[in-house]
Amino acid sequence: MSKNSSRRDFITRSAATGASTAATLTGAPAENASAAHIAPLKTANTTKYTSICPYCAVGCSVNIHTLGDKARNVRSAIVHIEGDPESPINRGTLCPKGASLEEFVQSDRRLTKVRYRAPGAREWTDLSWEEAFGKMAARIKASRDAGFEEKDAEGRTVNRLENVAMIGGCTDTNEINYLLGKFRFGLGILAYENQSRL
Ligand code: SF4
Repeated sequence: MSKNSSRRDFITRSAATGASTAATLTGAPAENASAAHIAPLKTANTTKYTSICPYCAVGCSVNIHTLGDKARNVRSAIVHIEGDPESPINRGTLCPKGASLEEFVQSDRRLTKVRYRAPGAREWTDLSWEEAFGKMAARIKASRDAGFEEKDAEGRTVNRLENVAMIGGCTDTNEINYLLGKFRFGLGILAYENQSRL
C-alpha cells in the first residue's frame, strides 16, 4: 500500500480482488466461453432401451443406448450401456460385471456363427443358421417323439420329456430367458438350468 492510499482504498481493492478470485474459482464468468467447447454426450441422439443385466439374480436394470435405429442403410449399433437411475433395484449403479456389458456386446471375440463338430469328427466347422436350425429341429423332434410321456406308470397325466435337458447361459437376456421358458414348457422339458435364475 502506497503512502497516499487510504484505508478505504485498500479495502475497496481487496474486495474487488476477492470477487474476481471467487468468480474464477466458481467458473461463473468463464461458463459461457467454455460451453462451446464441451463435447456432446455420447448418448446424444441415441435411442434408449431398457433391459435387465443377465449376469445374476439381483436383476439390475440397464439403459441401452443405440444409434442408427430405423434409418435406411444404417446398421444399428450399441454405443453405451449404463445402470438405470430410475430402477428401485440398483438406482443407476452396476457392479463391475454389469458395467462390462457393453464390452461383452462389442467384443470382436464374440461368436457370431454357428460352430459345429459332427459326431466322431475332430474339427469344428461353420454352419449357416439355416443348416443349424434344420439339424436342431430334426434332432429335438426325434428325441421328443422317442421320449415324451403323456402318462406315468400309475396312469396320471404328466406330459413330460425327460430325455432332453436345456441349459441357458449367463449372458442370456431377460427376453431370451422368457422365450426359453416358453420353449421348454411347450416341449415338456423338466431339466433346466440357468445361471441368471430369472
Ligand atoms: S450388475 Fe452385477 S449385481 Fe447387478 S444383475 Fe448384473 S451382475 Fe448382478
